[in-house]
Amino acid sequence: MIHYDVQLIGGIVLHQGKISEMGTGEGKTLVSTLPTYLNALAGRGVHLVTVNDYLAKRDSEWNAPLFEFHGLKVDCIDKHEPNTEERRQAYLADITYGTNNEFGFDYLRDNMARSLEDQVQRPHHFAMVDEVDSVLIDDARTPLIISGPIPKGDEQEFEAFQPRVNKLVEAQKQIVQNFLVEAKKEIAAGNKKEGGLALFRAYRGLPKSKPLIKFLSENGMKQLMHETESIYLAENQKLMPQADEPLLFTIEEKNNQVELTEKGLAFMSGNTENPDFFVLPHLSIDLNKIEQNKELNDAERLAQKEQLITEYNEKASRIHTVNQLLKAYTLFEKDTEYILVEGKVKIVDEQTGRVMEGRRYSDGLHQAIEAKEGVNVEDASQTYATITLQNYFRMYHKLGGMTGTAETEAGEFWTIYKLDVVSIPTNRPIQRKDQEDKVYRTVREKYNAVAEEIQELVAAGRPVLVGTTSVENSELLSRLLNIRKIQHNVLNAKQHAREADIVAEAGQSGKVTIATNMAGRGTDIKLSPESRAAGGLAIIGTERHESRRVDRQLRGRAGRQGDVGSSQFFVSLEDNLMRLFGSDRIAKVMDRLGMDEGEVIQHSMITNSIERAQKKVEENNFGIRKRLLEYDDVMNYQRNAIYKRRQNALLGERLSLDIINILFDVCQDITTSYSNYEELELKVIELLGMEPPFSAEEFNRLPVDKRTEQLFLAAELHYKSKNEIIAQQVIQVAEEAKRQGFSGIQVPISNGHMVTGVVVDADKTIVTQGKEVISEMEKFITLTLIDQEWKEHLREMDDLKQSVQNAVFEQKDPLLIYKFEAVNLFQRFVARVNSDTISFVIKAEIPAAQSTNQTAPKAPKEKAPKLQMSKDEALSSLLGGLAGAQEEPGYHDPSAGQVERAAPRQAIKIADRNQRVTVQYQDGSIKENVKYKSVEADVDSGKAVVVG
Ligand code: ADP
Ligand code: MG
Repeated sequence: MIHYDVQLIGGIVLHQGKISEMGTGEGKTLVSTLPTYLNALAGRGVHLVTVNDYLAKRDSEWNAPLFEFHGLKVDCIDKHEPNTEERRQAYLADITYGTNNEFGFDYLRDNMARSLEDQVQRPHHFAMVDEVDSVLIDDARTPLIISGPIPKGDEQEFEAFQPRVNKLVEAQKQIVQNFLVEAKKEIAAGNKKEGGLALFRAYRGLPKSKPLIKFLSENGMKQLMHETESIYLAENQKLMPQADEPLLFTIEEKNNQVELTEKGLAFMSGNTENPDFFVLPHLSIDLNKIEQNKELNDAERLAQKEQLITEYNEKASRIHTVNQLLKAYTLFEKDTEYILVEGKVKIVDEQTGRVMEGRRYSDGLHQAIEAKEGVNVEDASQTYATITLQNYFRMYHKLGGMTGTAETEAGEFWTIYKLDVVSIPTNRPIQRKDQEDKVYRTVREKYNAVAEEIQELVAAGRPVLVGTTSVENSELLSRLLNIRKIQHNVLNAKQHAREADIVAEAGQSGKVTIATNMAGRGTDIKLSPESRAAGGLAIIGTERHESRRVDRQLRGRAGRQGDVGSSQFFVSLEDNLMRLFGSDRIAKVMDRLGMDEGEVIQHSMITNSIERAQKKVEENNFGIRKRLLEYDDVMNYQRNAIYKRRQNALLGERLSLDIINILFDVCQDITTSYSNYEELELKVIELLGMEPPFSAEEFNRLPVDKRTEQLFLAAELHYKSKNEIIAQQVIQVAEEAKRQGFSGIQVPISNGHMVTGVVVDADKTIVTQGKEVISEMEKFITLTLIDQEWKEHLREMDDLKQSVQNAVFEQKDPLLIYKFEAVNLFQRFVARVNSDTISFVIKAEIPAAQSTNQTAPKAPKEKAPKLQMSKDEALSSLLGGLAGAQEEPGYHDPSAGQVERAAPRQAIKIADRNQRVTVQYQDGSIKENVKYKSVEADVDSGKAVVVG
């Protein structure tokens, strides 16, 4: 293959660190080889990022011969398991292919690694992103998250409340149905006001109800509903409670809100004794009352306050559970937002139509859906590490990208990534005919028209690709075609295994392929001579998507390299986009034309107004992503700081110095916080495990900075002399180990109430005169405590994010408050890590009566806890706006995880099975001085570790 001229231009643009916009079929895979080769020569690695592993593997194999011929190494990370030597090697290759998620997760995993050898990535040099809009825009709505189970995270009540919520929803359905009947009756009788109210109530109750949507598409109904709505929206929704009064709950579909009404609350509390079962106490008022109550003594007052707060928390969590269940029932539909596979609820990505493996809705929503579907409700989990794709890709020194559709989002690419978009002309002129949209009143009419059109196209011998927006729609259409006996293939999240086969034959004469957005990216549909003669591939869209880009992607499947072809979208007023955004004008036009059942309008004015609606949605989504990034930027600063400190600990070079610096900070903290000698003395004993270096009188005489200095010098001395003792102890053991032919020793370390241990090399221990043990210990403790506290900090930051949202009610900007509070939280986090680290290392010693163990020649590696990768959308939805029906995909399958403990897990083989050892079990319990053979099975299976 020889590059076309336009491909050379595309390559230049990529090398300049910009986005090449080149149509589908222009050969972007080949284009990318040019800048890839050139930049790989620098020897610092080039990353080629794709949207799915099918493409990552395919492209790496297509292009490998070209690169290898020129003496470069190519690999693909998705071919290897995470955390393996193979992955590491893949990153060491000159050119590395992979999916965006895996690149991002590897970065997070590297920053959770416990040793340098476990890290796989090199510094981020040059990345080129294929289908760049899909990765940097669509996927960027959801941050990457690694999470694991929360200890004690199973106190959930989803299953307990599910039956009641189910009844509640059924009752509401009945109510809504009655209102719809009433509306029809009143409207028929000419009572517009009453009819409008009934209609509006039905809408507030269940906006997604099919009979309602159908009725609203009838002449003038939508307008009547909006007129009524505007009455109740007026003056800050003053009259809204009247409209909502007979309902059990109300739904605001546009921003995914469901709220229980008074009636709904009463319904839920039902038979319980306590009518306030779901009513939150007024915390501040009630606390104040207790405070003011003169009859209580201090202890009673405290007890009452604690009880009030406990009650508040219980109720808040109960209300949250019920709300999430309500959402699961009313806003999330099976086979649209999610599918059930082998008793598991799996999210279907709205943008790509693919199952998002391992991803879970956050904030309990996933559990709520599990309860609704009657499948196993999984445990809650917590975040261990997280980053947005935006901040991941901004780390690269140079970034480039390619796609067929970037132009509509050029503004966002520039604002967020400083990426320019350059549109490159096609190699041959485009021949595809893009027709104006056909607009119908109802979904039913639309699908009938689609089926008819397909029938005609097949008869004409053309291949047809039908795009649908959900699994459910693709199956619906499939049934319609079956009735008409039209042969076809279905490609959706449920059957992606056959993807390659289906795509391979999609270009043949008379072939019909129904696909969700899955077929939209990167697939290569080739025409046969007959189908070309018949007029080429016909694209049929059964609904307009939220953004113009996705529509253009679908159209782009036809008419590659000057091929003939056509594209046509079918739209109905009942479609989501039309319902939610700006179909009013179109509805009015249709009303005025007095259109009948089955009639269609097709006009450029209509097509334009649909695209205007899409533009509104796009802008809104950009707002959401920008907001997400603004929040992540706060986090990014903290993440960089802490990852840097962690990396220093891993490298070990500056660690001793760091520890001494921290020791100084901690000493300063103590002397500035305590001006009372007794209190200070207690603190010094507790934290540093020694007496203060001054008496009470001396203390009172000294100015603060002198107290700090003296305390620090004494602590440093104490630390060094204690370490000297440890070093002496281990040198002897190391020498003995060597004589017996062992290369490593395990050293148990205790701070008085916790035992842990490090494994060190015998030779190194001898050469460094025992210092090796000290630095390994410092490293181990630093990493353990950073990781442990970081998780806790992430949780606090999450809580903060939730709670600052209320600031809107006080006319304050949540982001500002978030930034301010985040700084405070971070300072507290750092202080906590510092004092815990110092407190541990300064008290650490080899437990008495225990000596070190000799290990087999090579100690197996510490077993890494299993973690779950996922992306989280909590933020985007939480920030309001149009996060879409697919709210809050979040965390993951905690059942596969393990609880991480402070104690290390080291599988150590003990040479002599009769030797007495101490082991620690996963729950933290310790068995002391037992014969090794009696616990060998537990150690082998990883249930216990040898700690002494
Ligand atoms: P894109 O990613 O731009 O949609 P692909 O990279 O999938 O396009 O390429 C589409 C098809 O065009 C592939 O079958 C590829 O082999 C072919 N192709 C690309 N460039 C050339 C070229 N210069 N000469 C011949 N065939 C080419
Ligand atoms: Mg491609």
